[in-house]
Amino acid sequence: MTGRSQTGAGDLLELVRSGRAVTRGALQQATGLSRATVGQRLDRLFRAGWLREGAGGPVDSPLGGRPSITLEFDDAHAVVLAADLETRHARACVLSLAGEILAEHSGTLVIEDGPDAVLGELGRWFAELLEKAGHRAEEVCGIGLAVPGPVDLESGRVVQPPIMPGWDGYDIRGRLSGAFTEHTGTGPVPVLVDNDANLMAYGEQRTAYPDCSAFVLVKVSTGIGAGVVVDGSVYRGIDGGAGDLGHIRVPAGAEALCRCGSYGCLAAVASGGAVARRLAATGVPAASGSDVRDLLASGHPEAAALAREAGRQVGDVLATVVTLLNPGVLMIAGDLAGTPFLTGVRELLYQRALPRSTARLEVVTSRLGERAGLIGAGALVVEHLYAPERIEERLLAMGV
Ligand SMILES: [Zn+2]
Repeated sequence: MTGRSQTGAGDLLELVRSGRAVTRGALQQATGLSRATVGQRLDRLFRAGWLREGAGGPVDSPLGGRPSITLEFDDAHAVVLAADLETRHARACVLSLAGEILAEHSGTLVIEDGPDAVLGELGRWFAELLEKAGHRAEEVCGIGLAVPGPVDLESGRVVQPPIMPGWDGYDIRGRLSGAFTEHTGTGPVPVLVDNDANLMAYGEQRTAYPDCSAFVLVKVSTGIGAGVVVDGSVYRGIDGGAGDLGHIRVPAGAEALCRCGSYGCLAAVASGGAVARRLAATGVPAASGSDVRDLLASGHPEAAALAREAGRQVGDVLATVVTLLNPGVLMIAGDLAGTPFLTGVRELLYQRALPRSTARLEVVTSRLGERAGLIGAGALVVEHLYAPERIEERLLAMGV
């Protein structure tokens, strides 16, 4: 943020949104701006429809004098679209700016059909969802998309994704914005793309553990990936590669061929896909992580035993993760997340990690379940679009 004044309209909006200053007097005090300047900047935010007067009524002013009207972010002035792609299944929704799901749809969408077909179909889903939610396409401020592969956030493109054939380097943003326009007649609209485990971690941390400054989520479904949230932001590494745990080599995997083309990956022995293959080899009908999830839900003993063993394999790797990052919460999510897998994780984790790094660690399962990726994708869009450094440009574009 160097070189940018900290007292623009965007900074006032941020102070209000975060609850740090919610009256004109408090904003004057927080920014050192004059009453008149605060008034002018707030006026622009009111004209944009982004601020409103609080429902709670006047509160005492920090500058003394008459009680002041409180201000709040108007979370009804726009909506967000979000989608979460699995390998054979997708989920999409309309969200309010506060993160509330207003309409939701899930169904079959096969990632191997390629980006053109999949994103085109999502455009159709979005148009139907807006109608269901009773919102106009013009109200959409942005789209967030979670994908099961490593993403370069700058370009919004996936980078050498092992389980997304045909997607490497594809212009996801352009195609999804185009599909939205095709089905609604409006647009273009900003599209943000991120890895599914990153967005699940972001959604879960913000919702259930807002005070946790080091949060790790591990998603175990068709593949295995982790999302890391540090001080409220997703940690992505220098080009989106952080957290790709599935392709760490493990001794037990020496004979197992991974979908990335290598032998010995964690995902080749401990993912939902790997457990499904082992079950199928013993005559149990299972082809995917979601089949394993269904078997686990029905208490299938062999599925439970294999899930626990997979948990042990993952727990061994997580001992290193926990030692490196010292998180407060380690959340297990995805198709295998359940008691047998969690038991396996705990067995190896506490055995292999230093007691110091697990003393205050909570090992938990997902709170938001299958909606975590959607909630995270929606939050990513809102935080991006209403970030202080983007406000001036957006206000000018609106002619405000
Ligand atoms: Zn691999």
